[in-house]
Amino acid sequence: MSDVVRNYVGGGWRASSATETLSLTNPASGAEIGRVPLSTGADVDAAVQAAKAAYPSWRATPAPQRAQVLFRLKALLEENKEDLARMLTTEHGKVVAETRGEVQRGIENVEHACGIPTLMMGDTLEEIAPGVDSASWRQPLGVFGIIAPYNFPVMIPLWFWPYAVGTGNTVVLKPSEQDPLTHQKIVELAEEAGLPPGVLNVVHGGQETVESMCDHPDIVGISFVGSSRVAEIVYRRATASAKRVQSLGGAKNYMIVLPDADMDLAHEACHGSIFGSSGQRCLAGSVIVGVGDAHAQIRERMLDSAASIRLGDGLVEGTDMGPVISAAHRDRVSSFIDQGVAEGATLSLDGRGATVEGLEGGYWVGPTVFEDVPADSAIATEEVFGPVVSINRANDVDEAIAMMHASRYGNACSIFTTSGKAARDFRYRAGISMIGVNIGVAAPMAFFPFGGSKQSFFGDLKAQGRDGVAFFTDQRVVISRW
Ligand code: NAD
Repeated sequence: MSDVVRNYVGGGWRASSATETLSLTNPASGAEIGRVPLSTGADVDAAVQAAKAAYPSWRATPAPQRAQVLFRLKALLEENKEDLARMLTTEHGKVVAETRGEVQRGIENVEHACGIPTLMMGDTLEEIAPGVDSASWRQPLGVFGIIAPYNFPVMIPLWFWPYAVGTGNTVVLKPSEQDPLTHQKIVELAEEAGLPPGVLNVVHGGQETVESMCDHPDIVGISFVGSSRVAEIVYRRATASAKRVQSLGGAKNYMIVLPDADMDLAHEACHGSIFGSSGQRCLAGSVIVGVGDAHAQIRERMLDSAASIRLGDGLVEGTDMGPVISAAHRDRVSSFIDQGVAEGATLSLDGRGATVEGLEGGYWVGPTVFEDVPADSAIATEEVFGPVVSINRANDVDEAIAMMHASRYGNACSIFTTSGKAARDFRYRAGISMIGVNIGVAAPMAFFPFGGSKQSFFGDLKAQGRDGVAFFTDQRVVISRW
């Protein structure tokens, strides 16, 4: 049997007390590459106690010194970028060009968090009354819990923990139990960069581990990313014990193509958005709405390009699309396709049963295109999280926006047009948090907030940037008269 991944507690790698472990596999071959423990409440408590013990001296470490650790981590991540990307492809499946992009996005968050001394500054105003001045300070709060999904196992923890530790908190991180290996390497690099023992702790596991974190009285806040179902559970459970919570959920992202769009640009952006990472992105486009004449043009291009996608091992040159994360997820995506057909949608390209020669044990789903999708069918309303797109037609932009607004999700959306006014009107009316104008994956960079609306987000302050700093700090306001 393969090695069981260890927890990282108080600066040491410790065996979990779990009695159960899960297999970690390379999704391109199905071969086992490790095992992950389902850590218990006692493991969570040990990590929280280590984080709690490390907090006073880390908090007392001046912010510029904390930032130096992040500067060194950034340099180490850059030195190890290619190794991290290849390791990530092996455990996640997405092609190496995509994993390089993911590692880069993670580095950008560390880079942004290096500015903590500036980002953490408070405000001052003198003479708020005769002889009275007021000032605010941002202070850390204690131990934060961070819980990650499988689809960006390098980047998503880095949306949070560099800001949490940069501002002087300590952290217990629970990576996804499906692909925790590459982040283990990042934790090693953080140690090498000089992060003191106990400032960042890692506990591997699943539901029980998460529940213990939500309930733990010494954790002051939780940052969660995952499906909407679990995001809501975590939000409710952790706020019940008065924690601050930012909980990012699932998505169903619309891409609206107007007749005046640059059709080649729109097509290229839609194609990348839908099939990148085999559709396993919270920003993946999953519904194209062609308005009027745009429908026939985008439809024809999409059907052509989708059919030409080469599935394969993401480490092999020339592969366009890798596998999905697991056999269970492949079966889930396939059953969504079955259901779409049963509910009356037209299946114009069928990705079920795809295989790759020599990699028959891999978790393959080919590109899939639906048309004439009934508005209340599962394929129209649920997040599929696979390489599956619906192509709809609307008579005008109002009808297209009404289709989008019918979704319970509100993570991202895109419009393709050459009209500034149409783009401006769309931005004003979209009611969705991350908006692309002639951009297929509207991923905010590290210095902007990342997060959705409606059922895609539970909480107030989003990930990254100034929101991240605000989430991990409290403002203390002092009014002085001398
Ligand atoms: P998931 O909800 O299954 O798991 C996320 C985390 O929750 C994991 O760490 C898992 O161990 C834990 N978990 C699972 N079930 C639980 C339960 N019942 N109780 C407590 N904890 C539980 O999500 P996933 O499949 O790992 O990731 C894909 C999902 O994440 C998609 O829905 C995707 O849209 C979403 N996502 C959202 C964003 C965003 O920014 N909004 C970003 C990335 C991924």
